[in-house]
Amino acid sequence: MLFSLVGMGLYIHIPFCKRACHYCDFHFTTTTRYRPRMLRALKTELALRRDFLASPELDTIYFGGGTPSLLTPAELSSLLDAIHRHFSPKRDAEITLEANPDDVNKESLRAWGALGINRLSLGVQSFRDTDLAMMHRVHDGREAGRALTLLWDSGFDNVSVDLIYGLPGLDDEAWLANLAQVTSFPISHLSAYALTVEPRTAWAHFVRTGRYPVVPDSAVSRQFDLLMDFAERAGWIHYEISNFARPGKISRHNSAYWTGRPYLGIGPSAHSFDGVRRQWNVANNQRYMRAMETGRPAIEQEVLTPRDHYNEYVLTRLRTMWGCHVADIKALGAAYLHHFEREIRGWLDDGALLYENGVVCLTRRGKHLADRIASDLMMV
Ligand code: SF4
Repeated sequence: MLFSLVGMGLYIHIPFCKRACHYCDFHFTTTTRYRPRMLRALKTELALRRDFLASPELDTIYFGGGTPSLLTPAELSSLLDAIHRHFSPKRDAEITLEANPDDVNKESLRAWGALGINRLSLGVQSFRDTDLAMMHRVHDGREAGRALTLLWDSGFDNVSVDLIYGLPGLDDEAWLANLAQVTSFPISHLSAYALTVEPRTAWAHFVRTGRYPVVPDSAVSRQFDLLMDFAERAGWIHYEISNFARPGKISRHNSAYWTGRPYLGIGPSAHSFDGVRRQWNVANNQRYMRAMETGRPAIEQEVLTPRDHYNEYVLTRLRTMWGCHVADIKALGAAYLHHFEREIRGWLDDGALLYENGVVCLTRRGKHLADRIASDLMMV
């Protein structure tokens, strides 16, 4: 079997935010009046889908969204109670909460720690107020710094920070200043994303109407290089295109996605994978809650063909430092191996791929071209 069945992950999607960020195309609403009903629906789904994974043992739990940090400690606690009722988190399970800086205070940190949350993923994005206003974030740069200082004092030793580059007006100097500022705190993980203008977002509208300029690819690429140089000097492990970790602090939950391990996604729009089937919940809060109230989850699914397995493997593994293992591809069938070996040749000659000890990895040059290479390697 290509995918290992150890280390199950549970993802809970909290679809509420205080404000709509201009670049965001995740599933969320700024209406919170039916929050108690949504929490009941999430708990119902936990009960209904407890047998989706081969084992109830959980290696990771991840509260994402949306903005899960806007839940009260009592609400989070009731979700964790339901998880413990239906599943068996390992003693050393990684339990992550995505948090926005404006939700971080001494009381919330104390409560999250007491609930067993042992990893925080903080959505900073930038320390510059001009960038944050442009993104329509709810916090400002001062608040981001204050949240990180509080985290420093709180005893959380596994903290990830999200930053965005390739923003209009964020020149190289400002990008490096953001990197320097975030790493002046003892964070253990950094997720740094190039801004992507998703079609149905306010940002795309502003680009269409000329209010926001388009950042040239060359500038985005240069900032990615600055990021890699910075991370290398600081001794971070660049383990996925957009993710960097201190030794021992690679995200167990996200790595499970990228290495094809099974996970269950609870909540509207959440995806699940059991090694064979991929399922996704309806991305509509009202339909999701009604479905849970009738006891019939509104789920669509597909059973992965060997070709789907191959394509997903190439798409996800190539972006990681673990690369594509020729033995894994061989296990899928001779046709896939033949296609893979044929398609990598040009990129090996180009210096974008490296083939060593049966593993094909992106070189630094290849990291800039990951999407193009993956699309060549995939089978249509
Ligand atoms: S807080 Fe996160 S999920 Fe909510 S709108 Fe902003 S980017 Fe999207």
